[in-house]
Amino acid sequence: MSPYDSESADRLVTAAADGEDQAVEAALRPRLLDEFIGQERVREQLSLVLQAARQRGTAPDHVLLSGPPGLGKTTLSMIIAAELGAPIRITSGPAIQHAGDLAAILSSLAEGEVLFLDEIHRMSRPAEEMLYMAMEDFRVDVIVGKGPGATAIPLELPPFTLVGATTRAGLLPPPLRDRFGFTGHMEFYAPAELQRVVHRSAALLDVRIDPAAAGEIAGRSRGTPRIANRLLRRVRDYAQVRHDGVVTAEIAARALDVYEVDARGLDRLDRAVLDALLRLFGGGPVGLSTLAVAVGEEAETVEEVAEPFLVREGLLARTPRGRIATAAAWHHLGLVPPAQPGRGAVPAQPELFGPDGARTAEA
Ligand code: ADP
Repeated sequence: MSPYDSESADRLVTAAADGEDQAVEAALRPRLLDEFIGQERVREQLSLVLQAARQRGTAPDHVLLSGPPGLGKTTLSMIIAAELGAPIRITSGPAIQHAGDLAAILSSLAEGEVLFLDEIHRMSRPAEEMLYMAMEDFRVDVIVGKGPGATAIPLELPPFTLVGATTRAGLLPPPLRDRFGFTGHMEFYAPAELQRVVHRSAALLDVRIDPAAAGEIAGRSRGTPRIANRLLRRVRDYAQVRHDGVVTAEIAARALDVYEVDARGLDRLDRAVLDALLRLFGGGPVGLSTLAVAVGEEAETVEEVAEPFLVREGLLARTPRGRIATAAAWHHLGLVPPAQPGRGAVPAQPELFGPDGARTAEA
């Protein structure tokens, strides 16, 4: 069976949270807006929304946070509650199967409470419809009884703030989207921002690390704080077991080479896909299913687990004729692009390609 059956599989560079992440993340989450690194635009906009609500003494508008996993949506929802001095209730779309589940949560909210609804696009339809009314009028209709005798009993709710999070804002029905007063779009983090995240987490975990080492980890973290924190923990293990615990850039690079996360954040599967595309198919175009057979994976795994990051990094392109590698992909694996596409690879002199190319060529 493939070890990559889903994005949440045991993969060091997945953005999904695993059990260990959940246990450690609580300690690493920034508590206030000022401690939250990066996402300047969202932070400034949110700060205005919260400050205005505080001045008026009312609950702020409902907030929608959209963006890929691991970028800080849950963290921001907790910060919103903390900045308002309000309690927070955390649930998720898939946990709400029936409208009754949502009614139970809503009717037990305290005044001003923040309700964080993760994966809001995965809520059931009836629950979604109940949410419309709750968001707009702070009221729900609870249906009592069944069949012709069923009656709707209106139930007043205390004012609350819904913070919805979604990885797919486009999947939200417009009536739901329209009921949010503010939408924050989270972007992948720049390396310098991730470097600050690593530094901050290292301090909280009591890990001694130099700035270059934090930069090395940041560069391999795919723009995602959750991955940066996870890589930091693996580097910490390596530094502790093989050295004196202090993390230098060289130790960080060596540790992450052991875990097969390369200088650009590609792991073994990503590299296998690129390698097959370049060496076996001369850079493409090649069909997805052929590429998948070549790396011994399901087409779905290649398409959903490996390709999104390769596309984002500009290493692979999906075209109507099949997958093709970009010039950057050849360079990344230390190969020279053929003069004519599709004519095979020539091993390159690693030193031609700078530190990234050199390291990956040696690996
Ligand atoms: P999401 O809900 O978007 O999946 P989380 O809020 O759970 O992401 O964040 C994942 C981890 O990344 C948390 O442990 C948090 O500590 C860290 N993190 C996310 N964003 C930031 C940030 N801007 N600054 C510092 N740490 C962050």
